[in-house]
Amino acid sequence: MAQNAPMLAFAQKKSLPLGKTIPMNIEKDAVVGITYTLKEANSGDVVETVTEAQPFYFLFGFGNLLEEFEGNLQGKRSGDSFDFKLSPEQAYGPVDSTAIVDLPVSAFMIQGRFAEEYVKEGETIQMQDPDGNALPGKVLKRGLETVTIDFNHPMAGKHLHFAGTVVEVRSATEEELDHGHVHGPGGHHH
Ligand code: ZN
Repeated sequence: MAQNAPMLAFAQKKSLPLGKTIPMNIEKDAVVGITYTLKEANSGDVVETVTEAQPFYFLFGFGNLLEEFEGNLQGKRSGDSFDFKLSPEQAYGPVDSTAIVDLPVSAFMIQGRFAEEYVKEGETIQMQDPDGNALPGKVLKRGLETVTIDFNHPMAGKHLHFAGTVVEVRSATEEELDHGHVHGPGGHHH
């Protein structure tokens, strides 16, 4: 915040009209709202679109998002656009072959019957790790005795292309900093 001090002094001298706010740069502890399109960089396939109707809000500098993603937004202001690519190493990592596993068909029984309505090739299903944590996995292949499940992040091994606009930058409230997430529109309601 120290870098804003000369600006404030200047504003006071010029007696800015009340209610006129000084544009804020994206920095640690800022609440940031953005719209964007995420494409898989190599194929150009659109993965996700976030529009003005419901911008994506996040608390900057809290490790909630990919470090390289935040690095590309740092210093920008409301109205600025962005357009950058992340390699798998900067994003969700390479595909880990040990995260692709064959599980016995018996692991997919519901009330003694194979859950074929859920376990379809190409579908993502919710499973549990030994600690009971939810673990989404994609069904790659259903065999006679085993089902092949890919537990890699869906964007593992992919180059990501983000392009969009910063629609809001404001200071986080004490409560937001305390909770580590954004409140209000686009954030948590509680
Ligand atoms: Zn909260």
